This record gives sequence, C-alpha cells and structure tokens, in this order.
Amino acid sequence: MKVGFIGLGNMGGPMAANLAEAGHDVTGFDPVAPCPAGVRKAASGAEAARGQDVVITMLPNGSILRTVADEIIPAMDQGAVLLDCSTVDVESARAVAEKAENAGLLAVDAPVSGGVGGATAGTLTFMAGGREEAFAKVNPLFDVMGQKAVHCGAAGAGQSAKICNNMILGVTMIATCEAFALADKLGLDRQKMFDVVSTSSGYSWTMNAYCPAPGVGPQSPADNDYKPGFAAELMLKDLRLSQQAAEAVDADTPMGHAATELYESFVEQEGGQGMDFSAMLPRFEKRHRNG
Ligand code: NAD
Repeated sequence: MKVGFIGLGNMGGPMAANLAEAGHDVTGFDPVAPCPAGVRKAASGAEAARGQDVVITMLPNGSILRTVADEIIPAMDQGAVLLDCSTVDVESARAVAEKAENAGLLAVDAPVSGGVGGATAGTLTFMAGGREEAFAKVNPLFDVMGQKAVHCGAAGAGQSAKICNNMILGVTMIATCEAFALADKLGLDRQKMFDVVSTSSGYSWTMNAYCPAPGVGPQSPADNDYKPGFAAELMLKDLRLSQQAAEAVDADTPMGHAATELYESFVEQEGGQGMDFSAMLPRFEKRHRNG
C-alpha cells in the first residue's frame, strides 16, 4: 500500500519503519524527528499525504491532530483512509473523522497500547473506531504494526476504549502501590504479599505482570530503577483525557478523578516526571497517613 506517515517520534518512527520493512511504500513527515530507514522524507504534511491509500498520524495531542488534519485532508485522494493512532480526546477524534468523511475520505481512530517496545517489535494492540469498510482497509497495516486490532465501534470508539482501559490501569496501579506500602508498615514481607495477592481476588495486571515492588514478580520497570516503561506523565495525560470525557458525558468517575489528582501531584510536584508510573510505590513508602 502507499502510506503517508505523519509524526515520526518515539512511537511513529518505529511503526513507520516496520511498515516500510514489510514492503509498503511509506512517505513520512515530522518537523523535528528524523525519518527512519526505508521511509521517504516529505517536505510537509500535505506532501506526505498526497496520493496515498492511507495516511497515518501519530501526534502528541488533539489540538495538533486537528491542525494537521486541516492541512492534510484537502491533499488526500478521494476514498483514502485517514488513520489516527495518537491518543487524543474523544471530541477531537470525532471532529476529525467528520471532517474527513465530509471531504470524501474514510477515517479510523486507532490509539494503541504497548508503548515504544511494542511499536518497535510490531506487537501493539490497536483499538479502532470508524466504519467497517475503513477498518477493513487498514487491517493489513495493523497486522504489520501490531498483534491485535479490535474494532470497537463508530468514530471515537477507539479513543473511548483506550481511556477507559487506562483509567482502570491508573486506579489499579495506585491501589496496588498503596497496598504494598500498607503491607510494609504492617511488617508483611513483599514476596509473601505478592504470592497471596497474585493468586487471590486482589490480582490484577499491575500486580501480576507489572509488579511495582523491585525484586518481586516478573521483571518490570521497578527492577530498573523505575525507568519507563510507561512514564507517569503519559499516564497523567490519559487520566486527564478520561476526566475530560467523563465531564463531557456527565459520568461519575470518583476513582478516576482521584487517580488523576494523585498522578498530577506526583508528576508536577513530587519528582515523578520521567519515572515509570509504577514509581507510585516509592512515593507511598515515604508518606504517612496525613501526607
Ligand atoms: P513523541 O513526542 O515522541 O512524537 C510525536 C511527534 O509528533 C514528534 O516527533 C513531533 O515532532 C511530531 N509533531 C508535532 N507536531 C507535528 C506536526 N504539526 N506535523 C508533524 N509532526 C508533528 O510522542 P510519542 O511517544 O511517539 O507518542 C505519540 C502518541 O502516541 C501520543 O498521542 C501518545 O499519547 C501515544 N502513545 C504513546 C505511548 C508511549 O509509550 N510513548 C504509548 C501509547 C500511546
């Protein structure tokens, strides 16, 4: 397929490289990041978008996505697919999809889970929103960049699934970390805590697969000085998107709200920036009941 790829950062770079390596004809654009091997460099987003079957965007946020979409939609061929893989607010995803469809294009929002490791290895999970016909057209590209793609529903459904998943992840990580810190103060051995919880009703992905306690459970960022992994500021971004969405549809999300506040103070006031999101555990270790 002829593919335009806009946003060649930590995630987009390796995703574009994998598409080129699989034999797709990839043209990329990024104002800052270098073009990976095998990808032809365009001078602008519009140039990268012109004449392609699919144009993929992998950008930092919804407002940048809207700006880039305004630039590339007029340049794209009728019937081509605009495939946005960034994590953005549901409203921006829907607005961009509507603009694309009004211009005679197809649109898919397909944020990913799996991080830079998954992008490099081609093992991402895509959660997609958009018409069946559009999903079918880009599915072969999902096969190259990922291991699984779920068609979640209409435009915006991919972003909705992503922020609901990550709201659960943020809340669960905090619960796991505060429980470890409580167990410490109760004199309970961390390994014993893991042995019990990982096989009891408190088990979760954060405990069983990504244990925040160093030296306990499978290898995780905790075993590497809490270097990300999944950075605390990216978790904060996704939690904020969940609260923005909850606000928009009047949903009551008290735990999501609390998790957002905790990650906000962790990242902005307590040195959590640049650390893995599981570094909530050393944060709780240092604290007392009233702060
Ligand atoms: P990044 O900052 O490394 O890459 C974003 C790229 O977009 C940058 O290279 C930047 O120069 C480029 N860009 C900015 N404005 C542009 C424009 N107008 N035209 C073209 N390019 C432009 O970020 P990333 O880590 O690659 O993340 C990309 C998206 O993927 C984000 O929405 C993020 O939330 C999501 N995501 C990231 C991870 C992760 O672990 N890094 C995991 C899942 C999802």
